[in-house]
Amino acid sequence: MKNIFRRIVSSEKYKYSCLIYAIATVHAILVALFCFLHVKPLIAFNIFSVITYIGCASALRYNCKLIWIFYTIYIEIVAHSFISTICIGWNFGFSQYIIALVPFGFYMCYTLIEGRRKYLVASLLGIAAFISFIGCRMISLFSGPIYDIDTSATLEFVIYTFNSSCTFGFLLIFSLIFVYEMQNATNKLRSQNTILENLASTDPLTGLYNRRSMQIFLNHALESGSGFCVLMCDIDNFKSLNDTYGHDFGDEVLKAISTILQQQVEDYDYVCRWGGEEMLVLVSNSDLHHACQIAENIRRNISNNMFHSVEKIVHCSITIGVASHHKGDTIEDTIAHADYNLYQGKRNGKNRVVS
Ligand code: GH3
Ligand code: MG
Ligand code: MG
Repeated sequence: MKNIFRRIVSSEKYKYSCLIYAIATVHAILVALFCFLHVKPLIAFNIFSVITYIGCASALRYNCKLIWIFYTIYIEIVAHSFISTICIGWNFGFSQYIIALVPFGFYMCYTLIEGRRKYLVASLLGIAAFISFIGCRMISLFSGPIYDIDTSATLEFVIYTFNSSCTFGFLLIFSLIFVYEMQNATNKLRSQNTILENLASTDPLTGLYNRRSMQIFLNHALESGSGFCVLMCDIDNFKSLNDTYGHDFGDEVLKAISTILQQQVEDYDYVCRWGGEEMLVLVSNSDLHHACQIAENIRRNISNNMFHSVEKIVHCSITIGVASHHKGDTIEDTIAHADYNLYQGKRNGKNRVVS
């Protein structure tokens, strides 16, 4: 049952084939019923309906537009309700099927018609269904049934219940499908949003946050009022590493260094690729002493690390300028301060932390 439901919601063709065959089966049962009750016009109409639905199933197989199949179903159901009421009266509940056309119409128009026209068509079909329903009632009031069937109250109840069960069963299944499809669409949208957010906030090579994201984190840190520090990191002699071992190897080193940086900071700290081979670390809720410890750990880890190229093992180092944010300073002031310290580190021999 679960598998059938999955198949129904994953394949449009399968879904509508199931629907068409289900309605054709109801009409086949009605052919037998009206044979039993000797109501010739309804035997003929229901045979015609079965043939119509078999035609719809073939049309679906040959990729006929679904909206035309829906209009056919709509007209058939309204016509059947009228003819049934005219022939045997209102009490058997054949006009109930018209009620199901309202949500079904909205579902079909919503999924099959583009633009705002879908609301107009669905509303018009809903109003037409209401007028048809009242029309059936009026016909039954002003002209009695053509066939005065001699049935027991039990048979009338059984037929009424059969029609109600078909209508409610149909409404229930379609509501379930509708909710399931909505849920699926929402989940899909959510995961696409997450992918897009990741793409917009991270650097594709290193997987670190990009500069744009870092600006947001820095603004939050500033607004929170709790002290924070920044580490401006720059890989030493990276140009010559690129020149010696190639740009692809340079990329691998950049990725490996980014991983080390991420491993050395806490979950609530942020590392971003500030540009080229420069990385900026935001150390939240910290003083200069703590930030320098983190910077020193990063520096030591990188200088002790071995980066494997095809031919040999390469060593690399990094210089880090550390600055803490002072009250009244802007974010740019603090970053400029860290940048200045980085410059001092480069001037004084690289592979060092300057605060
Ligand atoms: P210093 O120690 O003074 O920082 O020297 P450096 O060679 O690292 O500095 P410089 O700014 O002269 O060169 C940085 C190099 O980083 C130049 C550029 O080719 C390289 N680079 C920038 N982005 C990337 C990248 O995404 N991949 C690779 N492989 N190299 C990059
Ligand atoms: Mg640089
Ligand atoms: Mg450099």
